[in-house]
Amino acid sequence: MKTIAVLGSTGSIGTQTLEVVRANGDLKIAALAAGRNVELLEKQIREFSPRVVAVWEEEAARKLKTAVSDMDVKIVTGMDGLIEISTLPEVEVLVTAIVGMIGIRPTVEAIKAGKDIALANKETLVTAGHIIMPLAKEHNVRILPVDSEHSAIFQSLNGEHHEQIDKLLITASGGPFRGKKRADLEKVKVEDALKHPNWAMGQKITIDSATLVNKGLEVMEAKWLFHVDLDQIEVVVQPQSVIHSMVQFVDGAVIAQLGTPDMKLPIQYALYYPDRRYLTGERLDFAKLGQITFEKPDMETFLGLPLALQASRIGGSMPTVFNAANERAVSKFLHREIGFTDIYQIIIESMEHHKVQQQPTIEDILDTEKATYEFIESRW
Ligand code: NDP
Repeated sequence: MKTIAVLGSTGSIGTQTLEVVRANGDLKIAALAAGRNVELLEKQIREFSPRVVAVWEEEAARKLKTAVSDMDVKIVTGMDGLIEISTLPEVEVLVTAIVGMIGIRPTVEAIKAGKDIALANKETLVTAGHIIMPLAKEHNVRILPVDSEHSAIFQSLNGEHHEQIDKLLITASGGPFRGKKRADLEKVKVEDALKHPNWAMGQKITIDSATLVNKGLEVMEAKWLFHVDLDQIEVVVQPQSVIHSMVQFVDGAVIAQLGTPDMKLPIQYALYYPDRRYLTGERLDFAKLGQITFEKPDMETFLGLPLALQASRIGGSMPTVFNAANERAVSKFLHREIGFTDIYQIIIESMEHHKVQQQPTIEDILDTEKATYEFIESRW
């Protein structure tokens, strides 16, 4: 029996993690955390009997306490609550399926407490990869990727030697607006941007897929996770989302992981690594698929990718500005306060305004996030 805790249990990755737990009989849920979705949390508590549950908002926590007063569960709140559940003695693996930079501190504390991390929250490595990766090494904990692209690379690297990697090939679907030009993007609506061609995901990451910011974040994440230079990472558009990513080795061999688009596969792989378990669901039917096609990403139209590469090259606190500006811009877009291409404009202006700090601490990163939000509020 392996004991796990799930941060963000009510979200897209969180609920799919619980599906994996439900399908296998040997994972124990010690703790869950969510922002405010009391109704779903109550159902999850009744089904999985966690010992501790963290709810971000006080009011939601009060409601949840009342709803589960017949159950033996401790309800905690805020950042202290997130850290408490991330460091519970019995937890072996922490699944970080929370959205946003709020995931950084619980992840750091979990690593210090010796927990393996099944990492979905990409913001953690994007902004604090220079802290997280050495810390994981120091505490001898594994960072197991949940993101499908990173899991594909992780699977392709199984049994291989790191020094024999030539490059990582991260695949991208191209998002719902693939083939469109800049002028077309001016007019797109929230509903259009939320229609991902292949994957069902949370709202924020779905918008990030449409802007190609998500691909940029993945490149930044891969750099830290696999200890490679930015120049060793190439993005390839593969619209059918069948190849989840690939590794090219020094002899020219390319190893890829393929499968139907189902996040339960990488989640389960991270939870049981290095074992594989049976997973229900569709299998690839190559004859039916017919073809797998490839394109170069359109970096002139979808500025999310080139801006991410620029932020990563500058390094230091700049990836935090890129990420925070995008987070705030996406929230404004989802609230229909700005247009789609304004997301790029907000990122550009925030990066231009920022004075880079090299080797930022966690405190510096969180200060930079706050300063970026303040800058955006003063301008937009
Ligand atoms: P969702 O928006 O679907 O879910 C986010 C989760 O985080 C919810 O459970 C939410 O709780 C919780 N949450 C938000 N704020 C807080 C808070 N302050 N304290 C505690 N919990 C909080 O996101 P996704 O599942 O799509 O994504 C999660 C992470 O995984 C992101 O970093 C994303 O980039 C990454 N990822 C997602 C993939 C996907 O397929 N969805 C693929 C690869 C990576 P509540 O509902 O109560 O507000």
